[in-house]
Amino acid sequence: MNFPHSSGTVPVSTLGTPRIGPRRELKAALEAYWSGKTDASALLDTAARLRAANWARQKALGVTNIPSNDFSLYDHVLDTVVMVGAIPQAYGWTGGPVPLDTYFAMARGSQGGEPDACAHGHGHSQGVPALEMTKWFDTNYHYMVPEFAAGQRFALASTKPVDEYREAKALGYQTRPVLLGPVTFLKLGKAKDPSLDPLSLLGNLLPVYGEVLRRLSASGAEWIQMDEPCLVLDLDAATHAALKETYGFFAHALPKLKLMLTSYFGGLGDNLDAALTLPVAGLHLDLVRAPNQLREVSERARAGLVLSLGVIDGRNVWRANLPKLLDALEPVVRRRGTDHVEIAPSCSLLHVPIDLELETGLDPDVKSWLAFAVQKMDELSILATALAGGREVVMGKLMVSGAAADARGASAKVHRPDVAMRLGAVTPDMVRRQSPFEVRRAAQHEKLGLPALPTTTIGSFPQTTDVRKARAAHAKGELSDAAYEAFVKEETTRTIHWQEEIGLDVLVHGEFERNDMVQYFGEQLSGFAFTRYGWVQSYGSRYVRPPILFGDVARPKPMTVDWWRYAQSVTQKPMKGMITGPVTILNWSFVRDDVPRSLACRQIALAIRDEVADLEAAGAAMIQIDEAALREGLPLRKAEWTTYLDWAVSSFRLCASGVADATQIHTHMCYSEFNDIIDAIGAMDADVISIETSRSKMELLDAFKTYKYPNEIGPGVYDIHSPRVPSVEEMIDLLAKATQRLAPEQLWVNPDCGLKTRQWEEVRPALVNMVAAARRLRSDLAEAAE
Ligand code: GLN
Ligand code: ZN
Repeated sequence: MNFPHSSGTVPVSTLGTPRIGPRRELKAALEAYWSGKTDASALLDTAARLRAANWARQKALGVTNIPSNDFSLYDHVLDTVVMVGAIPQAYGWTGGPVPLDTYFAMARGSQGGEPDACAHGHGHSQGVPALEMTKWFDTNYHYMVPEFAAGQRFALASTKPVDEYREAKALGYQTRPVLLGPVTFLKLGKAKDPSLDPLSLLGNLLPVYGEVLRRLSASGAEWIQMDEPCLVLDLDAATHAALKETYGFFAHALPKLKLMLTSYFGGLGDNLDAALTLPVAGLHLDLVRAPNQLREVSERARAGLVLSLGVIDGRNVWRANLPKLLDALEPVVRRRGTDHVEIAPSCSLLHVPIDLELETGLDPDVKSWLAFAVQKMDELSILATALAGGREVVMGKLMVSGAAADARGASAKVHRPDVAMRLGAVTPDMVRRQSPFEVRRAAQHEKLGLPALPTTTIGSFPQTTDVRKARAAHAKGELSDAAYEAFVKEETTRTIHWQEEIGLDVLVHGEFERNDMVQYFGEQLSGFAFTRYGWVQSYGSRYVRPPILFGDVARPKPMTVDWWRYAQSVTQKPMKGMITGPVTILNWSFVRDDVPRSLACRQIALAIRDEVADLEAAGAAMIQIDEAALREGLPLRKAEWTTYLDWAVSSFRLCASGVADATQIHTHMCYSEFNDIIDAIGAMDADVISIETSRSKMELLDAFKTYKYPNEIGPGVYDIHSPRVPSVEEMIDLLAKATQRLAPEQLWVNPDCGLKTRQWEEVRPALVNMVAAARRLRSDLAEAAE
């Protein structure tokens, strides 16, 4: 079938590609440079080779709008900070080109040591601070937060976009440079002075962007991809005005340059009017997260506007059903003409692994349902070919795609009637504890007999080089199962005895047997697959390999009970059972796109519920269910929060509610913003929650105070993100602050998070001090009561 206004082709875009290299080449080059083993030119050579390979790969796979400036040595937001010269004073930059080491100082702190990280992978610099880091929208990619000062000035301080455009051109590629749009850039930033509104800096910022665009245009660029993902957020009138000012300015200053205004991670929603009136040449839509916007946009967009149709999932690893996509796309192309559409992933391919072909160990069925960046590019060009030349031209490929989708839909590896039946049989009383907290509390206190202000830790103890080496050797088959187990047991025993010695009240086993708090469980549950090279950038040189949740989840056998039993057998003190919660397992995995997230979460919850029951049956009186990632699953739009929080909380309750009143359920969350989700935290109804608070000096407990949080709570008194050993006085002071906000009977004493990223030399004195602080305050309280 042929369409009107057909030029015979439909352009294919990628919007951005993974930077890290198929074999993590960038990580190796960065670490060699940071450790002083290589010099800057070696690093920059590797970077240039990776870019060239990326361009060549895209060209070979039929990508027509090949991006440039999507590469970054560390982070594209940091690149933008440097481009516009928004370098905070502390880094000592005085103008001119920004040295590489200044760039890395902002990324990692100026001592250049290994970035410090808490147990879930967020980095925190030691000593001289790096810029703050936070999550890029709802992804697991972290960007460096721009920091603006009063009187902030901007100046062109890096020509990276122009340099990389020219570099590509010299290699024979006409690219479409990618820039982070000025409005999103400002909105992602933070002003040190809270009275400064970053958007008020727009007028100063635009000329710098204008200069970059002018130079790109002068070098030969025809199109620019201008990323404004803030368009999928709830925006106020001031932001709409800022967008209008920005794109009006560009249209006026550079009337010939074409901008592809790009938003992703959601629909435009109530920002659609604003977006459609901007004087840009193209508009990219995320049609995976928000497929329904296609119809309205294609009807309302002015005739000349090029629509970039983001139909291939840039956030997930599933192969698309191409014939089905064509059904939706053909009418749009017919209406608008092939000259005014492009085919694209929903967002940059940065967020998916690079090449499925490297995965030789995957189940062949599962593998046939997947597509990584390379395979997604192939899908894009098949779609574009079919749209321009008709389906017959690529009939064979379309049939394979449709057949894979059918096979996945019918596979017994994905759909398990037993799991569906169990889920169908969940009754309301399964998401409720037997008695209200007051009653449980009495039963627990009688059973446990703990002192006031009980002391404990969050679960993990230092993962020393020895531990990591033993695990690696075991994985490679160099260390036998028996020898590895003996090693881990010895480490565990020693850690337990040490906890007894220093007088902690509730002990943990240390988690030495675990590689990662999600992977450890995913590997033991059915329904999950793991890749060998499926790395995705989390931040800088830190990459993760998320588990792939492909099917109905079940637990073939207990996952942690033997280790718990062993740990409890070496001590008289209570040993916490330690598991990861369903919401966190879900949020840190690639998840199914054939069932709602909520359903997948409930399946995991049922499996975890069985684990909780088995731990209880084995004798565990306390079970901690970590929900480190509950908050980060919050939807980008506020209107969708309640739905998410409802099923997330109910999944937690489903896994936690099967126990007797006297069994104490703990949960842990390693962040500190609770104000806006405190109702949900209350609704989880954990008997004890431990949270991060030490860095904010307990002020973050205010949410719990205002809410009148009734259950027990362990506000972290020891900031595990820093190597500093807090003194007894400091921790007493923090605890005293906590008692101003919560009743002393509610309080537990613990660190902020797990200790696995710390050194024993730091952990030992810190916990000794923590116990001393608790004891001192205990006796003060006892005295006051007399
Ligand atoms: N129990 C886990 C640990 O201590 C919790 C980690 C986390 O919250 N990120 O390592
Ligand atoms: Zn934590």
